[in-house]
Amino acid sequence: MTLAERKADVELRIAEACRRVGRDPSEVGVIAVTKYVSLERTQEALAAGCWHLGENRWQDAREKWLALADEYGEGGSENGSKAPIWHFIGSLQTNKAKDVVGRFTYIHSLDRLPLAEAIHRKASSLGITVPCFIQVNVSGEESKHGLTPDGLQELALGLRDYPSIQPIGLMTMAPHEEDPELTRPVFRRLRELRDEANRLGWFLEPLAELSMGMSNDFEVAIEEGATRVRLGTILVGKEEELM
Ligand SMILES: *Cc1c(COP(=O)(O)O)cnc(C)c1O
Repeated sequence: MTLAERKADVELRIAEACRRVGRDPSEVGVIAVTKYVSLERTQEALAAGCWHLGENRWQDAREKWLALADEYGEGGSENGSKAPIWHFIGSLQTNKAKDVVGRFTYIHSLDRLPLAEAIHRKASSLGITVPCFIQVNVSGEESKHGLTPDGLQELALGLRDYPSIQPIGLMTMAPHEEDPELTRPVFRRLRELRDEANRLGWFLEPLAELSMGMSNDFEVAIEEGATRVRLGTILVGKEEELM
């Protein structure tokens, strides 16, 4: 399958998942996760129309980011220039925030106030606001990053001190399951947590978004309300299987 065929296939499955629960497919954004693939493959993804790109480490993304900034320019935005829109989806060390802010439009892994402070400091020096997802470890798996659901209120209130951060939603990773149906409670819990935060007014602006669902479980995540799915293997593939 070519990348364009993979993309068409994913879009069909997204549309079907939406139809099952009465959602409009335009509510679901796809982030093409390019962390497993080369610059060339990433260029193919752009040529196929995948403008939202996800990476989880600056060191690994650096070469691709620089080459594509040369080719397309920086600062892709939702409603503007045709340049890649980068999403930082990996866990972020506080001292690495300065590498990511200004290069990645979105950060999906905000999970603690010291990191918020570092993002805010760099963003305000650049005169920008960074839309961020708060990463929550709903499943409680030790290997997963993110704060516990109990910690959300405190983080939300603390973020009011960092106006260069715009909290836009919650993000989670479900445990890998053979049967994706088993991930449903994790996604449902994230949606309920977001709705609860909105009802209680923890954030200055209600959170509209949920970043959840990967290759193995994106359809279940969409049925539970995902507004962004992060797709690597199924969409752009992995370099070793492409050779
Ligand atoms: C790698 C990664 C993905 C994509 O994983 P696939 O299963 O290949 O789709 C999504 N989200 C995060 C946070 C990742 O690190």
